[in-house]
Amino acid sequence: KEFTDINKLADEYLRLAYHGLRAKDKSFNATLETDYDDSIGKIEIVPQDIGRVVLNLITNAFYAVNERKNESNDKDFKPTVSVSTKKGKEKIQISVKDNGNGIPKNILDKIFQPFFTTKPTGQGTGLGLSLSYDIVKANGGELKVETKVDEGNPDDFGKGKGTEFIISLPIKR
Ligand code: ADP
Ligand code: MG
Repeated sequence: KEFTDINKLADEYLRLAYHGLRAKDKSFNATLETDYDDSIGKIEIVPQDIGRVVLNLITNAFYAVNERKNESNDKDFKPTVSVSTKKGKEKIQISVKDNGNGIPKNILDKIFQPFFTTKPTGQGTGLGLSLSYDIVKANGGELKVETKVDEGNPDDFGKGKGTEFIISLPIKR
């Protein structure tokens, strides 16, 4: 374990993932939003492990906004991935949020299972979230998801959709 600047770690992975995707596909584009809590300081973690979790979540988020963009007729749709951190009393949180299509209820309870994927063959192993869940648990933390899909209200259609994953980690005293 090393005392690690979580904000720096998250930001590095966000930019790394974004530029990696853009290098592979020139038409790929997304707005990046960040909001880092400067009071976090350094926390003791295995940086490669937590970095891997953050990267998995960010990669999924980019995939989700890109998928929505490709399916959507809405020319005003702005693919956006937001990463933020927050310090609480006993834990810190890292949030990875996207405005993709959201996760339908019927698959929500399966996403943390190993090998579960909705991606075409070759594009997903289905291991990212199960691995991430295990890593966060092994560090005494929690990995939670909140998501919203279209509820059939035409006024909402294409608007308030998306997914947020939140990693919580205990602050070591
Ligand atoms: P993979 O990315 O290889 O499919 P993951 O374990 O990372 O495997 O994710 C499992 C599944 O969870 C994905 O195939 C997708 O259906 C769903 N999922 C994960 N993150 C998101 C997200 N941000 N938005 C929508 N669906 C998601
Ligand atoms: Mg994944």
